[in-house]
Amino acid sequence: MSKFKSGREETNDKPRPVPVLVPFKCSQCEKSYKYKQNLVRHLKYECDKEAQYHCDYESCGYSSKFKSNLKKHCYRKHNGGCCKI
Ligand SMILES: [Zn+2]
Ligand SMILES: [Zn+2]
Ligand SMILES: [Zn+2]
Repeated sequence: MSKFKSGREETNDKPRPVPVLVPFKCSQCEKSYKYKQNLVRHLKYECDKEAQYHCDYESCGYSSKFKSNLKKHCYRKHNGGCCKI
């Protein structure tokens, strides 16, 4: 009876580091997203859009891409007395 092992070591059990995949990268900025819908939303509402709503309140400097955010801000911070929205 001869019993022999093959000399080759099987190494396919080696754990591989799993890279964090963020396959959806914005081409216009550094942002990347795991899901396409997030990138689409980013492109539509965030990227490539200047904040177009600015608070008029003296030395406040708040600005937002969303009118509703500015409105909220003005009511919260300045009791709504600053901007005419
Ligand atoms: Zn972007
Ligand atoms: Zn304001
Ligand atoms: Zn403000």
